[in-house]
Amino acid sequence: ERNILEIKNLTTCFFTDDGTVKATDRVSINVGKGQTVCLVGESGSGKSVTSLAVMRLIDYAGGFIQSGNVMFHGQDLAAKDLDEMMHVRGNKIAMIFQDPMSALNPVFTVGDQIAESLMLHQNMSQQDAFKKAIDMLRLVGIPAPEVRVKQYPHEMSGGMCQRVVIAMALACNPEMLIADEPTTALDVTVQAQILDLLRRLQKELGMSILLITHDMGVAAEMADRIAVMYAGTIVEEGTVERIFDEPRHPYTIGLLQSIPGFEGERGGELYTIQGTIPSITQLPTGCRFHPRCPYAIDKCRKEEPILREVVTGQQVACWLNEDVSNHFRINQRANS
Ligand code: SF4
Ligand code: MG
Repeated sequence: ERNILEIKNLTTCFFTDDGTVKATDRVSINVGKGQTVCLVGESGSGKSVTSLAVMRLIDYAGGFIQSGNVMFHGQDLAAKDLDEMMHVRGNKIAMIFQDPMSALNPVFTVGDQIAESLMLHQNMSQQDAFKKAIDMLRLVGIPAPEVRVKQYPHEMSGGMCQRVVIAMALACNPEMLIADEPTTALDVTVQAQILDLLRRLQKELGMSILLITHDMGVAAEMADRIAVMYAGTIVEEGTVERIFDEPRHPYTIGLLQSIPGFEGERGGELYTIQGTIPSITQLPTGCRFHPRCPYAIDKCRKEEPILREVVTGQQVACWLNEDVSNHFRINQRANS
């Protein structure tokens, strides 16, 4: 299957008072056509930075791509002029964020806002764009779209607003949607509705999704593949089945054990990974996870493990996984 998006060894930096610091280090992620890839990890792991880099919004946020490629249809977005990127953003790749209100303009009706991007990117007349806006509101399950199209964001609930944002993102029929914690700000019922909506739209429209979430439960429901990120690097990557059935990185195992109802859960108590994610300005030596890892050996403190395929369809960056027989010991200990 052909990949729509290939992020290759993406290293990003931010300017700080102490000079430039790396926010992501050689991150590689592939997204196939019609696939959903979930990028999971705690906040501060570099998930959002990765998505901002793909869209080149990082250039407006005090950072830059230091090295690596973002291949989209054989073109490297990392090397494009910011002017050229304006055509890619919204038109070919759309992005939605956690807070729908920050994506909507309070002084324009939702219809005007959807129509605006259609007029800009698709050269539609105002009349056609407005008609299409109504169709889009219907597509995302907003009742009475002819009425809603003339309303302002404050006249709608948070869930409705996120539907509007999705309608806006999909209006230009992008091939790829990047969604950064799209349901985190919503209550549980609405969250489930929005995830259902994204799944349905993906089937109907055949788009690819890069979904960023801290929630393994969301990833379980949505993902074809999962990439687990920790302190700016991908530590494990694989199909959703492999990640859930045979997680190999101790961090992934910890994340899974913190899901309510997951079988690795100990005695009904939710497991939490001890310690906190390191700041990008003070990364540990060797494996970045070693201060929190219950399996750390001496080598882990000295040498950084590199992501490599340990079995077909699963890559891991962990010294214990160099010897595949160790993996079973890790899982046994984690479950005892
Ligand atoms: Fe733990 Fe070592 Fe593996 Fe890092 S490399 S996750 S410290 S066992
Ligand atoms: Mg984030």
